[in-house]
Amino acid sequence: TKPPGRRLHKDYQLWTPLTLADFEAINRCNRPLPKNFNFAADVLDQWSQKEKTGERPANPALWWVNGKGDEVKWSFRELGSLSRKAANMLTKPCGLQRGDRVAVILPRIPEWWLVNVACIRTGIIFMPGTIQLTAKDILYRLRASKAKCIVASEEVAPAVESIVLECPDLKTKLLVSPQSRNGWLSFQELFQFASEEHSCVETGSQEPMTIYFTSGTTGFPKMAQHSQSSLGIGFTLCGRYWLDLKSSDIIWNMSDTGWVKAAIGSVFSSWLCGACVFVHRMAQFDTDTFLDTLTTYPITTLCSPPTVYRMLVQKDLKRYKFKSLRHCLTGGEPLNPEVLEQWRAQTGLELYEGYGQTEVGMICANQKGQEIKPGSMGKGMLPYDVQIIDENGNVLPPGKEGEIALRLKPTRPFCFFSKYVDNPQKTAATIRGDFYVTGDRGVMDSDGYFWFVGRADDVIISSGYRIGPFEVESALIEHPAVVESAVVSSPDQIRGEVVKAFVVLAAPFKSYNPEKLTLELQDHVKKSTAPYKYPRKVEFVQELPKTITGKIKRNVLRDQEWRGR
Ligand code: ATP
Ligand code: MG
Repeated sequence: TKPPGRRLHKDYQLWTPLTLADFEAINRCNRPLPKNFNFAADVLDQWSQKEKTGERPANPALWWVNGKGDEVKWSFRELGSLSRKAANMLTKPCGLQRGDRVAVILPRIPEWWLVNVACIRTGIIFMPGTIQLTAKDILYRLRASKAKCIVASEEVAPAVESIVLECPDLKTKLLVSPQSRNGWLSFQELFQFASEEHSCVETGSQEPMTIYFTSGTTGFPKMAQHSQSSLGIGFTLCGRYWLDLKSSDIIWNMSDTGWVKAAIGSVFSSWLCGACVFVHRMAQFDTDTFLDTLTTYPITTLCSPPTVYRMLVQKDLKRYKFKSLRHCLTGGEPLNPEVLEQWRAQTGLELYEGYGQTEVGMICANQKGQEIKPGSMGKGMLPYDVQIIDENGNVLPPGKEGEIALRLKPTRPFCFFSKYVDNPQKTAATIRGDFYVTGDRGVMDSDGYFWFVGRADDVIISSGYRIGPFEVESALIEHPAVVESAVVSSPDQIRGEVVKAFVVLAAPFKSYNPEKLTLELQDHVKKSTAPYKYPRKVEFVQELPKTITGKIKRNVLRDQEWRGR
């Protein structure tokens, strides 16, 4: 007979649940992917069991605070029963079925985690989006995905209402708010009456689980569809060796709920390892709140985008005593070596950079225990075979710049996205010979470390030289006047295009003579890197255009430079 909470893994002919070691072996491709996999049943409910037997420390699974004194702490058992209620709510009053698509546009509130898990329990495909989306963005997402339902918060309800008539497939609107609103079902109300009895659907490992929209740094966001196992098992190694998580750890991953980084750091990697996911509601990033949180709560592991570290090192960090912090991570954008060194000098902690994409998850990382080379993204992460290739798909030797690519042959790694939904051309365009191409350029050194050069479209070609913006930006930020910068190509009569830097100045330098400062910065870059890379044009700006994820939008500045040509 079937023991409660356990399922037969047909591939193994066992009634025992898979363990973390099994997931690691599967992630390494040392063990076949099971035919069926469901993150809620096979991972979360197993941790709930371990909680009961004392095999897991009495650490919450989710620890949420809002800075105003409200706090939510759920064990895996509570997460289990609450998410079962949410699952019943989605299938019953909301009328959703396995395979239906739901847009989930919520801020960092506990319900986001409930809806994620509830969708997994029911086989409903969830599509997270940030509450910073405008009506136009939401319209694009709802129409492109033919979503049947939207789960939203008050912040976005008016925007949704303004476009809802243009979305014929949308049947249900579910509002997460203490107030009710005309035309919306109320999450809070339905939740109250929903039953805790729910049996998790037995999803296939390759069955779709979620659609993540890319950041849209270079155009319309693409809908990358992931399977139950690509995110659900494919982030085991990332959790264990990059995030370095154990079940006693508490990870604060700051990314917004709308991006795949939230899936990595705040759901899959962390819970695979049984760690506690810490969340601060923080509507807007604020350095003081941030530093306060790290000094108040026993957070062991921190993951934030580089832009946060760039802001933090402007502060006198030596004044703060972080309670339990031991492991810091960053990713999403290149981290300037200068920032890494300042962070290390001020906090005594290393900064472990990772490089990944919505489509394929983590590609390279500085894993715990490996020597960090400042400025490098670390080594390729298993199970991927990461290479630098040329335009014909040939592997280039160490030291040669080319496109960062992942080997696809003989078998496409299971942790890959399944496809860009309804976009076979774009999906096909990611393949070159035996490889998946990332669209990013880089170099691998003879020790196997990868060095980011730039997005393929951001690389500047001036007088026949190829110049990666990141190296120039990293040189500029070494100068005390520079908080951050964006380097792009700009038209030039003689050279065709030249390097131009948009620079945000540190407060004490804002009153300096701009011509003199320009010369000084140019001089500095010439000394710090190969002189041909120095910015021939410099413009001082108050801020840089960024995506909602905090990534610099170099294409906006570049288009501005070339407009009218
Ligand atoms: P779109 O594909 O819609 O233009 P996007 O590529 O920014 O948007 P994401 O999947 O969120 O969408 O981001 C992945 C990209 O972010 C990578 O391809 C790379 O360009 C950049 N990136 C991520 N991590 C790093 C890193 N550590 N160093 C340099 N670049 C990084
Ligand atoms: Mg991309």
